[in-house]
Amino acid sequence: MSGRFFLNGFYISLLLLAACALGFWFLFSCETTGKYEKILGPVEAEPEVSQNAPAGQPEKTPPADSDKSPGELDDDARARELAEFMKKLVPLHKPLGKPGKSDWLSHHSEPGQTFEQYIACNPERPAGNRSFIYVQPLGDFSKTEKKIILLTAKFMTYYFNLQIKLCKNLPLSTIPKSARRVHPKWKDKQILAPYILDYVLRPRLPDDAMAYIAFTNSDLWPGEGWNFVYGLASLRHRVGVWSIYRNGDPDESDESFRLCPLRTIKMASHETGHMFSMKHCIKYECNMCGCNNRTESDRLPLALCPECTAKICWATKTNPLSRYRQLSKFCGKNGLEKEKKFYEKSANILKTIAIKQ
Ligand SMILES: [Zn+2]
Ligand SMILES: [Zn+2]
Repeated sequence: MSGRFFLNGFYISLLLLAACALGFWFLFSCETTGKYEKILGPVEAEPEVSQNAPAGQPEKTPPADSDKSPGELDDDARARELAEFMKKLVPLHKPLGKPGKSDWLSHHSEPGQTFEQYIACNPERPAGNRSFIYVQPLGDFSKTEKKIILLTAKFMTYYFNLQIKLCKNLPLSTIPKSARRVHPKWKDKQILAPYILDYVLRPRLPDDAMAYIAFTNSDLWPGEGWNFVYGLASLRHRVGVWSIYRNGDPDESDESFRLCPLRTIKMASHETGHMFSMKHCIKYECNMCGCNNRTESDRLPLALCPECTAKICWATKTNPLSRYRQLSKFCGKNGLEKEKKFYEKSANILKTIAIKQ
């Protein structure tokens, strides 16, 4: 996702350029990375009391992929099955209409990426011991912001069907002066997002990380010619960063307390989607669509379109029905009613299809 900008340019290529241009800024030795506080994940989901369980004897929520059949499908068979289920879900999704004047697609030419193209690009995905998403808080956070980080991390366990390792905070002093600025017009203090990716995260990337994502409450900008970005991720290096800075002050009002986590969850899952080599969606109103401004990002749904859902389910070997059920449950518990209903409807459609995974 990105904010308004001064010059045209596709931010991923900008990121790669920035990575090269900033090569001489390598200031950090490779610190140990496995410093994490908590593991969150489907297998450690909060216990829930089932309808039949006696009071005080909670039953554990089953892992998100518990509907898997014993004989796991190979990649091609899984792709064929997912392609079938995608067709059934299409009626629930809105095709992306003509972009408005200030929308992302009016300023960026995007190639899109079909499910088949995704598979053919040999995407980054969990393999071997690379099976965790690391969330790295960067800087100091208020109590409410800490809660939002935790909530976002929990959401991601269901969205990507992977366990999350929540790391200990890195201080903001990790970012040198040369990678900071004050916005020339707006006077916001900002941090250079590609610097975080290339010189904070990449040298610390844990061996077992599918993705390593920094989370900050400082404003981010991606380099010369840009105003700001909400987040930035590499399609190939498994690192990314989000900022809560432009998501509204969650302590300001009930409305902002409701909006801030939703915006943060949307942004985190979008950026992490890029880390699974997913490109921007241009087909449907989808969480993987590029965003140019707040109105556009608030309008886009939290849910992925059928094609992007298939990509994630294929990459993480996840049963889409289980995924929808888990997400619906999470949204219901956390006051995201509209999103809960949508996931519920999707699960109801898939219930009728036998998906062997
Ligand atoms: Zn994006
Ligand atoms: Zn999509």
